[in-house]
Amino acid sequence: MKNIYGLTYEELEQYFLQISDKKFRATQVYDWLYKKRVSSFLDMVNIKKEIKEQLEKDFTMKKLSILKKEEDTLVFKYLFELEDQNKIEAVLMQHDYGNSLCISTQVGCNMGCSFCESGRLKKRRNLETYEMVLQILMIEEDLHLKITHIVLMGIGEPFDNYANVLSFIDIVNCSKAMDIGSRHITLSTSGIVPKIREFSNYSKQVNLAISLHAPNNEKRSKLMQVNRAYPIEEVITAVKEYIEKNNRRVNFEYIMIKGDNVTK
Ligand code: SF4
Repeated sequence: MKNIYGLTYEELEQYFLQISDKKFRATQVYDWLYKKRVSSFLDMVNIKKEIKEQLEKDFTMKKLSILKKEEDTLVFKYLFELEDQNKIEAVLMQHDYGNSLCISTQVGCNMGCSFCESGRLKKRRNLETYEMVLQILMIEEDLHLKITHIVLMGIGEPFDNYANVLSFIDIVNCSKAMDIGSRHITLSTSGIVPKIREFSNYSKQVNLAISLHAPNNEKRSKLMQVNRAYPIEEVITAVKEYIEKNNRRVNFEYIMIKGDNVTK
């Protein structure tokens, strides 16, 4: 059974048309899910009984399990367990400009960056859209705060789970759902060139970040296997095209690793 938190607004509208109901029902259901935050279809009191029963037959509202929560000054790290017992992490950081959540997009990761624990685990599977959405909802509910910024930089390569990641962005950005502005959403990639090009056609003004982490190809290929397929020059060319095309901001990330990438 599908989890309702994985449906974009348009998909929910289509669902209601399919069951011979009205499109506007999607607005009511989104309001209960994302504004009023009910945990049962039966609590959606302005929706007809037959429709609620149909929703119960077709969808689950099952949440993730919080296995562990660690706190430090203005930082909260969550370990979630998924329905199939796989585990993922999300980290909330409180800044003066807002609450920023770094979410996971996959279980494990195939990119194999040498400095990253997730890379050693290898990818087990992509996260479903609802599993990304619920990382936000559950942390907001647990800490009683509003998350204002999203960074797709936890476990996984977001461009390796492209379709689900775009649906996720659609839901969190939707004014009827979480309404997080697209300029407050940052997607971080290890540098998959064809996907940078594809993403340049995406309609939302989401920020892009590139994990660079080395000053040349020799060092970068040692740290990041992806560089053997897409070396620095190709990444930079794709980023220049991306900026020219849509005038969006691109950040470069660089972790300083003593003895590895601090000098040429
Ligand atoms: S792409 Fe990100 S999650 Fe994947 S191995 Fe590299 S640093 Fe780790």
